[in-house]
Amino acid sequence: MQVWLDGRVMPVEEARISPFDRGFLFGDGVYEVVRFFDGVGMAMDLHLARLERSLALAGIVGFTAAEARQAMLAVLQAEGLRDAAVYLQVTRGAAATRTHIPPKGLRPTVFAFASACPPLSSLDAAAGISVVVRPDDRWHRCEIKTVSLMGSVLPMLEAAEIGAEEAILVREGLVSEGSSSNVMALVGDTLVTPPIDAEPSILHGTMRHLALDAAHAEGMKTSVRPLPVSELMQASEVLIVSSRRVLAGVTRLDGRSFGDGSVGPVAHRLIRRMRDGVQSHLAAAR
Ligand code: PLP
Repeated sequence: MQVWLDGRVMPVEEARISPFDRGFLFGDGVYEVVRFFDGVGMAMDLHLARLERSLALAGIVGFTAAEARQAMLAVLQAEGLRDAAVYLQVTRGAAATRTHIPPKGLRPTVFAFASACPPLSSLDAAAGISVVVRPDDRWHRCEIKTVSLMGSVLPMLEAAEIGAEEAILVREGLVSEGSSSNVMALVGDTLVTPPIDAEPSILHGTMRHLALDAAHAEGMKTSVRPLPVSELMQASEVLIVSSRRVLAGVTRLDGRSFGDGSVGPVAHRLIRRMRDGVQSHLAAAR
């Protein structure tokens, strides 16, 4: 496997990261995951803008979105992949020893790799997904896409115990987001999703953005407002959106069948709209 580390592509066996890297010692870094179809990044501009924002909020300097784009394309090419998910991580860098206050002049550590994913035709229909609902015990700055992810890993371990693939996180009775996704619910005829600028914040999801656009294009009503978990439980459809999955429909919740146990029509309509958006983007890029 070929990976990107600090400015060049290399075999993963040659990739060396200092044990004093602040990503390793403190989880002091940020990341992005971009889904590529036929070599073109889906919502690439949104990802790069979010990365720049995460870096700025984290005060990590010395790395730009333009370099991120270059690293992502380089690993795709090195792996000979066109349909893939690319992970890119930027940490504050490696210091000489472990101190909370970073020394001046650190150079960020940049790591990226690609993994194969299904092609665009996989967006012809939304997949079903099994979820659990768990308390949101994470920190309050979830708009920063930090690599400190234990607050997301712990509920996922509980999800995995009953064979579920995602945890919907709840703060004081309100849905915040999934542990690695945003959440939307069809309440009556309206697609409802929690606001990104709430306090505490949630991640400004790229697929949330595209799914809302798709709903508008379909002529659907949307509402960005707090979503009580009681409403989620009664919703006719619950959608999980993230770059890796794009959009999935909840078919099981807390170990029981959700609704009639199948993916609902709105999930299929929205993912097809999103697929058509990628298709137009690909045509324009050629
Ligand atoms: N929320 C969290 C906590 C995430 O980790 C992710 C993706 O990793 C998302 C939302 C969805 O973001 P995006 O659609 O940009 O992948």
